[in-house]
Amino acid sequence: LLLGVGGVTLLGAGLGGLFLAHRALEPARLAWTNQQRFIADASHELRTPLTLLRADAEVLLRSRKKLEAEDAMLLEDIVAEANHMANLANNMLTLARLDSNAAHREHEVLNLADVAQAGIRRVQALAEQRKVSIQTEIAARPQVIGDQTLLGQAILALLDNAIKYNRPRGKVSISTTEEQDQALLKVSDTGIGITADHLPHLGERFYRVDKARSREAGGTGLGLSIARSIVTAHGGTLTLTSVPGEGTTVAITLPLARRIAIGNKQALPEH
Ligand code: ADP
Repeated sequence: LLLGVGGVTLLGAGLGGLFLAHRALEPARLAWTNQQRFIADASHELRTPLTLLRADAEVLLRSRKKLEAEDAMLLEDIVAEANHMANLANNMLTLARLDSNAAHREHEVLNLADVAQAGIRRVQALAEQRKVSIQTEIAARPQVIGDQTLLGQAILALLDNAIKYNRPRGKVSISTTEEQDQALLKVSDTGIGITADHLPHLGERFYRVDKARSREAGGTGLGLSIARSIVTAHGGTLTLTSVPGEGTTVAITLPLARRIAIGNKQALPEH
């Protein structure tokens, strides 16, 4: 009995401690939420003036007035910079929404091979432009539960990097398999690779190995962070392995969709 009472007291103290810890963390949580909301609002607000700026510069570029070559170049720079900032604002908005769990997420059954193939179609033009070929290895067609748009965006970011940081006439391969209870998607390239000192930092926001190359390729330094946040929000993992000068592989795992039969109906587990 004594032991029992002691146990209850300890349990009480433990719960009390948890309650106090929760209370102590409340201001930090509130500050974090406010910061995320501010970033989301700010990036959202930036999109309209950027669109107007780009539109004005494009009107001038296409106008019948004969422009000096130098003026036309300046206007083209304005359009390129406005595009870059619009990408940045969109990426920051996506990240802030993912961080604060405000991103709208569908929970539908998806075939990962289909999402991968849709991603390939979207990067086909860029691959042709950079003379990079894409190979597909669909060893399995794993079913996962998630948001098609978000998972598509994550896969697109990986394909985009595999092309951008490749060499001319290089290769990108994308594969889907099933391993135990996991769906596995891999994107490999024959590109410049990443040295061991940079590898742990990739996926940190705005971390770029070569800032000039990233900017020139239209990168914002947020693609991998977004991909990782999306995959993590789906209960999965994202890992990078690389051999400098030979290439990089990014592997995504996601839990397989398992159908639980309840009576005649089928329910899908939340994750
Ligand atoms: P970015 O918009 O600069 O491409 P990411 O967040 O997608 O930003 O990637 C961060 C950095 O990681 C890139 O700037 C690049 O230096 C490096 N990186 C990403 N993917 C690859 C890859 N497949 N091969 C070599 N370097 C890569």
